[in-house]
Amino acid sequence: MNLILLGAPGAGKGTQAKRVEDAYGIVQLSTGDMLRAEAASGSAIGREAKTLMDAGQLVPDAMIISMIGSRIDKPDCRNGFILDGFPRTVPQAEALDAMLKDKGLKIDHVIEIKVDDDAMVERICGRYSCAKCGAGYHDTFQKPKKEGVCDVCGGTEFKRRSDDNEATVRSRLKAYHEKTGPIVAYYAGQGRSKAVDGMQSIDDVTRQLKGILG
Ligand code: ADP
Ligand code: ADP
Ligand code: ZN
Repeated sequence: MNLILLGAPGAGKGTQAKRVEDAYGIVQLSTGDMLRAEAASGSAIGREAKTLMDAGQLVPDAMIISMIGSRIDKPDCRNGFILDGFPRTVPQAEALDAMLKDKGLKIDHVIEIKVDDDAMVERICGRYSCAKCGAGYHDTFQKPKKEGVCDVCGGTEFKRRSDDNEATVRSRLKAYHEKTGPIVAYYAGQGRSKAVDGMQSIDDVTRQLKGILG
C-alpha cells in the first residue's frame, strides 16, 4: 500500500505517518527529514536547502523530485510507503504520477489532514523531538510520560527545528496555501483524495486514518 499524507505544516503528518508505519509495516518517506539530513551533512545541496527552509520557503521542485525518485527505489519501499511532505506543488504531483507509472507503481490513498491555521501555529511552536531516536513530542499536546525522558528510547536530550518559530511558520503557511493547496484540488478532481479532521486528538486522527486504510 502506497499513500500520500497531505496537510499544512504542523497538521500532524509526521506523527500519524509514524503510527501508520508501525501498524501497516510500510515506510515513512519525509522529504523534510531527508533535507534536514542533507543539511546536517553540510553538502552543497544541503546548504542551499537549509537557507530556503529557514526562510520558510520551498526548495526547488527538481531537487525534491530526484531525491524522492531514488528513495522509492530502495528495497525497504517494496511493501509500500507513506509520502509525508511530498508532493507540495502541482509540478511535483505531476512528476510523481509520471515517475510511478514508469516504475509500475501507484498511489492507493491520498489523505488530507485538515487543521485550522491558528492551531497549526500552536502545534509548530510547541513541537520538539528526541535527539537520539527522533520520537516527536509537544509542550502541551504530547508530553513524555516522565518529564525530560523519551518514552521510546529513554533519551534525555531533545531538540527543536530551527524553522519552528512563529515568523517562519507564517511564511510556511502562506507557501502551503499558495503552492500546496492546489494539489488537494488536483487529486480531488481525479476523485482520488479523502480528508480526515485533524483538529481531533492524535488517537482520534489515527482512528479516522485506519478507517480509510482498512
Ligand atoms: P507535520 O508533520 O504535519 O508538520 P507533526 O506531526 O510534527 O506535524 O505535528 C506537529 C506538532 O503537533 C507535534 O509537536 C505533535 O506532537 C503535535 N500534534 C500532532 N497531531 C496533533 C493532534 N491531533 N492534536 C494535538 N497536537 C498534535
Ligand atoms: P512541515 O512541518 O512544515 O510539514 P517538513 O519537514 O515537511 O515540515 O518541511 C520542512 C521544509 O523543508 C519546508 O518548509 C520546505 O522548505 C522543505 N521541503 C520539504 N518537503 C518539500 C517539498 N516536497 N518541496 C519543497 N520543499 C520541501
Ligand atoms: Zn528517544
